[in-house]
Amino acid sequence: MRVLAVGAHPDDIELGCAGALLRHVEVGDEVTMLVMSEVEHGPQGVVSRAQEQEHAARIIGAQLLWGGFPDNEIPAGRASVAVLDAAVRSTGADIVYVHAPADTHQDHVATSQSAHAASRRTARVLYYQSPSTTTFAPSVFVDVESTMRGKLAALEAHWSQVTQCAMVDLEAVEAGCRYWGSRARIGYAEPFETTRFVWDIVRPAKADNAFVERAPEADPLEHLASVSTLSR
Ligand SMILES: [Zn+2]
Repeated sequence: MRVLAVGAHPDDIELGCAGALLRHVEVGDEVTMLVMSEVEHGPQGVVSRAQEQEHAARIIGAQLLWGGFPDNEIPAGRASVAVLDAAVRSTGADIVYVHAPADTHQDHVATSQSAHAASRRTARVLYYQSPSTTTFAPSVFVDVESTMRGKLAALEAHWSQVTQCAMVDLEAVEAGCRYWGSRARIGYAEPFETTRFVWDIVRPAKADNAFVERAPEADPLEHLASVSTLSR
């Protein structure tokens, strides 16, 4: 698969879906990250934030693109849809990850809306949660137990946000994945909302053995038949 992950600012994508992106890379999918804004004017200055983002993309194993819009001024209309259209076309994305639409940050809302328009022909569109997301009701969960360390490492690459100004709380990130994992009945999960998810049905390798090794049980249909006979 070809994967396009879109975020308004440096570290947004890592917070929302780095665990899933690392899983994609593991199975050989091509992953591209598109950061819509120019680097935020954080305490370390402009160059350093760009370098942090480049480092994080290398940890994930993703190609990195920049949208080039001014921080806090990402437009919701034609200009950003055009950037996203070009990214979807050039990557041939089968799946798009982007901010969930309900958010207090105007850049996140604009990015989400524009990506929604640009991915009108994309088979799978998954919305990830940000710290500023307001309402969020996920229905798709990706198991990130095996990539949790990688997700935290990618976030640690954003040194100025993690260490210098404590904008990113790694403990809270891990606890959040554990919480969503418990909701999904697995260990650690990243949660997603979706407006379209075309599911390619494949048989998991383990399912065959599990099925064969299961002890034969009474035919449930026979049981139903006897119940219905009794009730007559
Ligand atoms: Zn952001």
